[in-house]
Amino acid sequence: MKNSIGSFSRMKSTNITLILNKIREHGSISRVQIAKETGLTPATVTNLTSELLTAGIIVEADTGCSTGGRKPIMLKFNTSDYGICSAYISPVKVEFAVANFEADIIYYNSIPLPKENSVEKSMEFIEKQYAEYSRTTNRKISGLGLGLHGIVDTDSGISVFAPNLDWRNVPIGNMLQERLNLPVFADNDVRLMTIGEMWYGVAKNVSDLVFVYIGSGIGGAIVINGNLYNGFKNGSGEIGHCTIDTDGDMCSCGNRGCVQTKANRNAMLNAMKSYIADEASILSQDSGCADIVRACIYNSDPVACRVINDEARYLGITVNNLINMFNPKMVVVNSDIKDFDKAVMPGLTEEAKKRKMKFFDSSTEIKYSHLGEMAVLKGGIAMVLKKICESTSLINGQNS
Ligand SMILES: [Zn+2]
Repeated sequence: MKNSIGSFSRMKSTNITLILNKIREHGSISRVQIAKETGLTPATVTNLTSELLTAGIIVEADTGCSTGGRKPIMLKFNTSDYGICSAYISPVKVEFAVANFEADIIYYNSIPLPKENSVEKSMEFIEKQYAEYSRTTNRKISGLGLGLHGIVDTDSGISVFAPNLDWRNVPIGNMLQERLNLPVFADNDVRLMTIGEMWYGVAKNVSDLVFVYIGSGIGGAIVINGNLYNGFKNGSGEIGHCTIDTDGDMCSCGNRGCVQTKANRNAMLNAMKSYIADEASILSQDSGCADIVRACIYNSDPVACRVINDEARYLGITVNNLINMFNPKMVVVNSDIKDFDKAVMPGLTEEAKKRKMKFFDSSTEIKYSHLGEMAVLKGGIAMVLKKICESTSLINGQNS
């Protein structure tokens, strides 16, 4: 999969990435401004943008504002001729989307994914969606970003272990690449969300970052100096398995008292069930996590608020540990639980700040994601766009 990248020398590739990143950040920008902001010489900017124009990655847009003299010609991404596909094989469904180079979603579809025969069924759906979209458009597709849960070998596109689908060592990236005849770049879903945050979300231009996701489990990703940290065997970011209670409940990982056993969806429900046994509440045994959040925000329900306080405390302690360990500029939190930010984030932030080291104020910002349900798909789009930035050979869908 890697050999689809790389017609540029490293230096040229780095400079092109700098230029494309400036265009992405600004939407449209003049050559003069690119030179000013990147430190590249005007001649280098002119030469490289000329190549990008010829390749069709960017186009000349309207003229910009002038401070005197001729108005500069603005450059922007070509949003009409090319597209990027993104797919997410989650534990319960498969999603497929196509976006332009500005990550505007122009096509989307999804199906529930049964556990039986899930490899074939997910590939069938993605292949069918790709074929259906391709029939209706002249857009050239540059690649597919693929999000998977569990451990993913990003170099080979292999799903090493996807616990909820029971996949082990499935070479899904290569299998899809052959079926679609398109470059496919696979990564773990939480890591893709992190890339999405850095390109389109609250962490734009942040190069040292920790991302924490709360859902049925608790996952995370670490970005150091602009790059996702993989770990020795692609196992980094298992934030949910940090021990927070040495004698706590058994976790699926075989350890006791992981933060995941204290603060994921199930933990919230278990806490609620035990609290309503001895305290009056508008919640019932059948209430879900979104009900708990709502009951705390809008009704100040004592049981709901107790669960939310626990949640905020455990996550705040975890975030503080991460801040002490990595000294990131920002910690970004996201969850699939509706209004999680309104209910949990104030307490989480307070707890983390309360525990910061007295002798060292790292001033780390703690923010909640705005990408919502599209976070993984947007991350997949960003990943392909990043590959395009690194090598324009992808622009024409070249696959070798
Ligand atoms: Zn664990």
